[in-house]
Amino acid sequence: MTSATQVSNEAVPQYAQVAVPVHLNKTFTYRLPSAMQRAARVGSRVMIQLGAKPATGYIVALSARLREGTSLVESEIKDVQELLDVEPPLTPEVLKITRWVADYYATPWGEVMRAALPAGINATVEQTVSITPAGREQLKSAQPAGKSIPPALAGGSAKLQALRLLADEGEFELSAFRLRMGTLQTPKWLRDLEHEGLIERSYRTRSLPTRAKRRRAVRLVKSQSGYAGVPPASLPQTEKQAGRPRTQTEAQQRAIETLRANQNAMAIADLINAANISESVVRTLLKKGLVEEFEEEMRRDPLARAELPVTEDFKLSSAQLAALTAIEVPLNQRGFAPILLHGITGSGKTEVYIRAMRAALDLDRGAMMLVPEIALTPILSRRLRAHFGDQIAIFHSSLSKGERFDEWSRLRRGEARVVLGTRSAVFAPVKDLGVIIIDEEQDASYRQEESPFYHARDTAIVRAQRERAAVVLGSATPSLESFHNSQTGKYGYLHLPERVANRPLAQAEIIDMRQVFARRKKPAVFSDELLRAIEETHLRREQTIILLNRRGYSSFILCRSCGESIECPNCDVALTYHRGDQTLVCHYCNHHQRAPSQCPVCGSKYIYYIGEGTEQIEELLRRRFPNLRLGRIDRDTKSRRHEFEKTLLDFGKGEIDLLVGTQMLAKGHDFPNVTLVGVVSVDAGLALPDFRAAERTFQLITQVAGRAGRGNLPGRVLIQTYHPHHYALRHACAQDYRGFYDEEIRHRRNHGYPPFVALALLLVHHKDPARARTTAQELRSALVEANQDHACRILGPAPAPLARLRGDYRIQLLVKSRSRKQMRGVIDAAMKSMEESGNDLRSVTLEIDPVSMM
Ligand code: ADP
Ligand code: ZN
Ligand code: ZN
Repeated sequence: MTSATQVSNEAVPQYAQVAVPVHLNKTFTYRLPSAMQRAARVGSRVMIQLGAKPATGYIVALSARLREGTSLVESEIKDVQELLDVEPPLTPEVLKITRWVADYYATPWGEVMRAALPAGINATVEQTVSITPAGREQLKSAQPAGKSIPPALAGGSAKLQALRLLADEGEFELSAFRLRMGTLQTPKWLRDLEHEGLIERSYRTRSLPTRAKRRRAVRLVKSQSGYAGVPPASLPQTEKQAGRPRTQTEAQQRAIETLRANQNAMAIADLINAANISESVVRTLLKKGLVEEFEEEMRRDPLARAELPVTEDFKLSSAQLAALTAIEVPLNQRGFAPILLHGITGSGKTEVYIRAMRAALDLDRGAMMLVPEIALTPILSRRLRAHFGDQIAIFHSSLSKGERFDEWSRLRRGEARVVLGTRSAVFAPVKDLGVIIIDEEQDASYRQEESPFYHARDTAIVRAQRERAAVVLGSATPSLESFHNSQTGKYGYLHLPERVANRPLAQAEIIDMRQVFARRKKPAVFSDELLRAIEETHLRREQTIILLNRRGYSSFILCRSCGESIECPNCDVALTYHRGDQTLVCHYCNHHQRAPSQCPVCGSKYIYYIGEGTEQIEELLRRRFPNLRLGRIDRDTKSRRHEFEKTLLDFGKGEIDLLVGTQMLAKGHDFPNVTLVGVVSVDAGLALPDFRAAERTFQLITQVAGRAGRGNLPGRVLIQTYHPHHYALRHACAQDYRGFYDEEIRHRRNHGYPPFVALALLLVHHKDPARARTTAQELRSALVEANQDHACRILGPAPAPLARLRGDYRIQLLVKSRSRKQMRGVIDAAMKSMEESGNDLRSVTLEIDPVSMM
């Protein structure tokens, strides 16, 4: 080989390292066919064959030769089948941050990259089944009427029925076929038929991936003397008439002039409308060669028809100004700076965010703002759109695939420099990020609770560090972790202690439900005080929000006389009630005890487990207040995008008097006419078997208090509880964050919870409970083995709070350590030894820094 060819071989990649969105946490080597070698780019998508199936993968590296010492055999390396992108959709920055996520959270890189791209950009792969010639033969010999059944079809009429169906109706999509055959899984008989060669499965890419929407448009054809057929409009009338060929009708003339008035080009549909012509006029012009057709890219704009609020240029308060200045310093210096912006609701944080993002744009840098999933905030989208116009792209879960794709493309091309979005927007391809804002940084929805696991806030901080950006964590009730970091100097700290224009904070009052119970002698959903307040609010023509603080699925025990819930002796969390065997179980350490028949504290027999749903509450209110216009928002309505948005917007317009919902209602919305917020059964949240239960409740009540009385009207918050003296409620009613923090951080330190330790949750799940138990035991042994120097505490195995989910038995282990690095070392070693001893690690899910222990 001459040196010249060597050099060119060096330059042209022959192999691609490909990450695939499957559970495997590794990359694969594929060969690039020569046609693709020069076009392939790191960050582009490819179609590859993974085992027997086609899949979309992402190129993460290119190389001219195989790595030295690789065990790969040249002849076994498969070709890349298709190169899907010319321009890589994943920028180098996005590749880096997804890689960090994959490493830190031990989650597959390919899945993270998929989450980073707009949904629907990938082609989906469809499996089909069809009958083979051999299958037809068999079927023939089984006729007529199945008198003689060939041996291959023996053992079940399902096989025969399946072959008949395929013979009669042709190819089926696999899932549709299973449905027709009345089964949700792929049954054994189907695999048998395939095995015997009577049917075959094939894979093919279905449905074109989402792409830019185009529409047909026409433009005037340019001829040497201006535009064909017509002289320019500015010419004097006489010349103009002279220049008009006889053959042109009025309508054609109108079309041409309309086009000229619109920079010589228009979408056909628009032209027909604007010039008031028929489509045949356009066809004639095309035939005459006066206009030519082309395809115009069309933007699907989620806010195209939205009414935008008027933007006001406030004079910032001195606290706002100080905050803005502190953010501008690192922005100007292109330095990394994490900053906690602690400001009570209504203190003007959003205004600071807007100015900080504007400052980034003024420096020709980009900006990102993340908001919680549930805030959805059609209102915030509009507010930011009014400020940033086309500079902002909006990502959230209620966009259509097409809208999402277009918004993402505008960022990728650099047309938009700001992104507003929920969790996955942390991966948005913003060019030259100057500032990242994370609003309501404490919100649990920043945590993705399925693969790929990641926490958007923590990912944003790392991204800001890598890209030398300022990152602002905003909150009225910072997470314990973030506030702790601001205390130790790891984060900067900015405080907005007062509301804009000194608007009063709502009064929060506690209603002691034990007394309500004592008076009525039976459990009540609503106290008289709350019912009266609803009535009064309505009479004043003001609005009410009723909140139900309920999440998670498990029940817990509560004494209605003294408000006590029963806690684990080791763990400082409430025990979960298992109805089946009448026991109370701790889901951290597996402590068991019999469910008592009377309250261990006061001896009362009135022990209940909690559970009223939003629907039931809406129904009760409807009966009680037939004149009120009610609306309801919860997870069920959330999945119906338009209804959810409409309910919120209607409520904002005053077309709904009372809104019932779960805690998602507490966040971010600004409804000036709401003067009453009632919290029904705050206790459900307080007693959750989660060490963050008190923190969550404190946050909820504080936020709720911020919802009432945001306009000029004073607000009232009524909290119904069986725990009137709980420290989370006490401090929340006093709006005393610091008091709560001091008390809570002591608990965390004493019991060894974050921020003082790193946590990892290992969930073992399996259809077979015995297998789940053995795997969990083996996992424990492997962890203990790897933990020789006792850097970690290993708790469990214990049943997960959701002990059975979708047919899987779930058992969990918790690993705690003061050293994150050592914790990771122990877990990695344990997982490796599990794999080596033949365990299928698909049944073990690892969650680093779990947010919800549910
Ligand atoms: P937060 O995000 O802290 O809840 P916002 O930024 O939404 O607070 O501000 C609350 C209200 O006060 C908004 O209606 C906003 O338009 C208004 N506002 C914010 N800053 C100022 C200011 N400097 N002067 C007057 N009004 C302001
Ligand atoms: Zn009691
Ligand atoms: Zn325990």
